[in-house]
Parts: sequence; C-alpha cells; structure tokens
Amino acid sequence: MSRGIGQPTHFLDPDPRFPFPHSPTPTRCQTEPKLFDFSHGDRSGSTRAATEKRLEQAGTACSRCPIARDCLKWALVNEPLTRIGIWAATTPGQRTDLRKRMADRLGPAWIDVLAERDQARRERAAAARHNPLTVNQARIVRLDRELNGPMRRPLTPKEQQRNRDRLMAGLKAA
Ligand code: SF4
Repeated sequence: MSRGIGQPTHFLDPDPRFPFPHSPTPTRCQTEPKLFDFSHGDRSGSTRAATEKRLEQAGTACSRCPIARDCLKWALVNEPLTRIGIWAATTPGQRTDLRKRMADRLGPAWIDVLAERDQARRERAAAARHNPLTVNQARIVRLDRELNGPMRRPLTPKEQQRNRDRLMAGLKAA
C-alpha cells in the first residue's frame, strides 16, 4: 500500500479494525503506482501542468475503482500510512480536511465511532443471513445507511422529521 519510494511504513501497522478492501480486479494504483505518487505540495521534477494532469488521471482512475468508498475510509483512518500519495482521488491535504470534518461530525474519537458502526453492520448482516429481514426491518437498515453513510451532508430538519417518522413506523411494524 506504499505511495512513494522510501516511505518509512515498515514499522507502521494498519488499524486492524479496517482491513484494506478486497478488489475483484487489480486496481490502477497496483498496476500503475507512479500515477498515484504525490506529496502535499509536490511539484518536483515536473511542471505544474504535468502534475495537475497526473492528478486528474489518478482521480479518474479512482472514480472508476470498485473499492473507492472503502479505500477512502481506509486512507482516512490510517493517517500515518497515507501521509503521501493519492488515495481514492484525494490528495494528502484533502484527506486532512476530511479528517477534520469527520472529527467535527462524530467527535475526536471518530475512528472508534466508525469502527463500532462497521462492527454493528457486520453483526446485522450476519444476523440477516440467519434470519432474513422483514420488509420493515430492511427499511430500517436502509434508513440507517442513509443516515450514517460517510461524508453525508447534515440533514435538514424536514428530512430528520421524515426519517424519524419512517423509523417509528418501521419499529412499530417490525
Ligand atoms: S480508489 Fe483506492 S484502491 Fe482504487 S485505484 Fe484509487 S487509490 Fe487505488
């Protein structure tokens, strides 16, 4: 998962609660790693235009990647391992901003919050395999995804009320 030659990652371990997502096909960052090398403010050895073009190409590759969403989460929670490079179409500076937004939204322990949510989702999925969800339970799960998905804008009061109504209706019927 290295980005850049000489990156001292040998003593850093990824957070075990967030395994790197499995891709069904080789990702572009595996087949063409040089495209994804980038340090914050990196303009060395290249014109600004050439760097911008490379960033655009990397961003396009990431936008087509089947694991982009989980790759971004992995990159955000593993800050020591992703201080350089393009991950899920983000630069180091953009990831710093996203981490601040996550801390604003979920608190300073936002990584633990995400880990708990992931664990709860895994448990629900495991339970659903044994006990298929009723229609209303499935509606609650969908609602939970809508509410807790990463990087979602804050809900308007009207949307919050609508979701509360749906949730209560689903809970009553479940
Ligand atoms: S989204 Fe992540 S795994 Fe996919 S190409 Fe981009 S950096 Fe690689």
